[in-house]
Amino acid sequence: MDIKAIQDELIKCNRCGYCLRVCPTYQIALTEGTSARGRNSLLEDLIDGDLPDDEGLDIPFFDCLLCGACTVECFTSVKTDELMVQAREQYYQNHLSIGKRSGLSTLARRIGVLKWIDASLDGAEGLVARMPRSFLWDRLTKIGFKQQQRAGQKVWLLPPSEEAPAPGPRIVYFVGCGTNFLLPDTGEAAIKLLSLAGCEVIVVEHNCCGLPPYSYGDLVAARDLARQNLTIFGNLEADFLVTECASCSSFLKKYPELLGTDPEWAPAAQEFAATVRDFTEIFPELALPYPGHLSDRTVTYHDPCHLVRGQQITEQPRRLLTDFAGLQLREMVEADWCCGAAGSYNISHPEMSLQILERKIRRAQATDAEVLATACPACIIQLAYGMRQANDSRPVRHIAELIAEGQGIQVGEP
Ligand code: SF4
Ligand code: SF4
Repeated sequence: MDIKAIQDELIKCNRCGYCLRVCPTYQIALTEGTSARGRNSLLEDLIDGDLPDDEGLDIPFFDCLLCGACTVECFTSVKTDELMVQAREQYYQNHLSIGKRSGLSTLARRIGVLKWIDASLDGAEGLVARMPRSFLWDRLTKIGFKQQQRAGQKVWLLPPSEEAPAPGPRIVYFVGCGTNFLLPDTGEAAIKLLSLAGCEVIVVEHNCCGLPPYSYGDLVAARDLARQNLTIFGNLEADFLVTECASCSSFLKKYPELLGTDPEWAPAAQEFAATVRDFTEIFPELALPYPGHLSDRTVTYHDPCHLVRGQQITEQPRRLLTDFAGLQLREMVEADWCCGAAGSYNISHPEMSLQILERKIRRAQATDAEVLATACPACIIQLAYGMRQANDSRPVRHIAELIAEGQGIQVGEP
């Protein structure tokens, strides 16, 4: 966004306050600076020169979850989440460049990401109950992948299962960072299901999707990662690129916006984004050999922000739980309310994040469902943390894991 585009977006805000009701941070802090209206107003004042500098604005700008709930509620659809990314980019550039020049990190530390890297890693450790013994990348051979050369690149290939009831499309599977390092069982389940549904699955070494740097305002790094990924995925001759990480699929679909002003890369970004599918989006189109047999169990579903608002995917995950896994669905109130994970928000803003999470856990518990399901690794880690904090032993599972269980697929370390 250039400054004119930012101003055009800001001017759409008429200060009506309809967004206050749905903004998770406002609902906790009840201060104007923690609402979409307040954040937009501060950004407008800064641009108009009504504020002398951005002193103190790191809190309103970086405390936004980027959940997008305000935009859906807003009559004029003000994109506060995108405005906050733009604000962070400016803030990041202003302060980090000074920090770099001075060799000091004092100013830089005020920026959310550096707080995250530094001060909060101790707290981050507690978010994950148990580190897996192997990453998803280390399991490819065990899963059945074979190495091949394709289009001048080394790839890993998993053929369609012989049990598949019908041929499926050719899939490039995108290994999200959270899936690879923290939840490899989830990725293994998704891959094995795609094969069981008749897909040829290709894995190739690639980069992070770019969402983490984008979220803290480093758009230069996000664009670099996007360009590298476009080069890697550009000639693999697959029908779709699929990931079971809602954050990754949402951001990969955003590449045309990210690179839209770059004439060299914009066409490739468009072409690539048209092939990206979230696992929950493509899997309902495929067929499995067996009906799901978990019908004696109840489940409630949490909509990840990057799926429900980022990609408008709401019906398919529920259909997967009922029709593919065979579970009984009990809807929770506020199923689409952010869980407070928001990428690394639970690490950079642990107190606010925990309060948002507690509200979500109460909603889930009120359904008395036996399982809490969702479709994004960041949400799984956050929700599982919330359940442990509440001394509630009910499991939090990705939809892919539940379908895999219903098909009798074994995943994980022996
Ligand atoms: S962001 Fe939208 S809903 Fe919120 S105050 Fe502005 S116009 Fe109203
Ligand atoms: S994106 Fe979410 S946290 Fe940020 S202002 Fe909007 S509703 Fe509030």
